[in-house]
Amino acid sequence: MADTGNMGVEKGDRRQALWRDGRRVVLLAALPPTYALAARVTSDAMIEQVKAREEHAMNFFMPARLYTGDGCIAQHADALRTLGTTCLIVTDKVAAKASGALDDVTATLDASDIAYTVWDGVTENPPVASCIEAGKRAAEVEAQFVLGIGGGSSLDAAKAISVFGANPTLDEPGFYALKWDVNPLPIVLVGTTAGTGSEVTKVSVLTDAAHRKHSIHDDRLYAALAFGDSRHTYTCPDAVTLSCGVDIIAHATESYFSRKADEISRAFAVRAIRLALPALGIASTGWKGPKSLDDHPIWWRDDLYEASILGGLAINTTGTCFPHNVGYYLTENYHVPHGFASAIFLPSMIELVEQTCDDPTYAATFFDEIGKDKNAFERMIEGCLQMDQKVHMTPEEIEAALPRWENNGSVKNTRADVSLDDIRTILTSLFV
Ligand SMILES: [Zn+2]
Repeated sequence: MADTGNMGVEKGDRRQALWRDGRRVVLLAALPPTYALAARVTSDAMIEQVKAREEHAMNFFMPARLYTGDGCIAQHADALRTLGTTCLIVTDKVAAKASGALDDVTATLDASDIAYTVWDGVTENPPVASCIEAGKRAAEVEAQFVLGIGGGSSLDAAKAISVFGANPTLDEPGFYALKWDVNPLPIVLVGTTAGTGSEVTKVSVLTDAAHRKHSIHDDRLYAALAFGDSRHTYTCPDAVTLSCGVDIIAHATESYFSRKADEISRAFAVRAIRLALPALGIASTGWKGPKSLDDHPIWWRDDLYEASILGGLAINTTGTCFPHNVGYYLTENYHVPHGFASAIFLPSMIELVEQTCDDPTYAATFFDEIGKDKNAFERMIEGCLQMDQKVHMTPEEIEAALPRWENNGSVKNTRADVSLDDIRTILTSLFV
């Protein structure tokens, strides 16, 4: 408890603003003497209240210019023109073409006299080595900006390639250490899946030389421009739609249960879930994607895309919790798609929060706010986990894996006490 002996305001000295530890506790200057006395008597309690209020401190920064809606790329060609006259397009071999996004982008670049080179070497869980190669290509063609088209892999790769394009001699350790001599090239992101939310984050998740997935977070990785035309998600195959869609639920739920959650991030998280759950209900019960945009309702894909942006805004403030990080292990070793690999741990995370969170009503408030009870929410996730991959672990394998979660940032970020014993128990109950 702080010593408050010097905190009173003497009569006649009412202009004094009180500060303690650099933080103003209460301004008494405007109060009449009677109230000032009352404030002195209760100031210890006030300090405790101020401390409690720090839990509610907000922290929000998202400087990417985001345009969404039908035809948004062509409509905002002028914004692209401000970035330069030559760019490297970064994408995979299939999604950008199948979605129509590559055609939309190149038509706009042609009409804007912006030269482009297409590098379509992005693979799932992109290795840093491939981004180094693409960065050299960006430097060779003197790209003035990097334009990524695709899902999380392509968008995250584009962020890294913008770093290597500006720093062609940078190696993998220097990249992860954020030791970039020159700022990355401006980044443009065009999303084709509803899930990653990478369009609005400063995060890039890549696979290192040891085949482990790592995320980096840096303000220099924000897109200068992000485009989200949900038409580009309409032809996404069902399995990809489900895996990406359930990643939205994982982002929003982990964000809500993060120690860094605040009122802004929780508002994004709750809205993301409320939009995504009905849409995922359709996707997970066998409703097939539209063969023709004229024949089928498309609201659910639009909702899912909007939810993915909101989920991205939520994790951009809070980061993710242990489900994402333990999920990386499933993806690396069992090739479980990222969304499934994360969402499978959500019920265990909520259970731990219920058992150990210092606010006993925190989980109940979550279910109130998303408008589903715990059972309905868990059934929904279960319905979405349509994984082809069978995961079977031995106790020895789990023991060998556990050290990677010691002092892990995502584990510590969870608003619960999560020990290695807990992770052992969770992995054993799910996979042994
Ligand atoms: Zn994710």
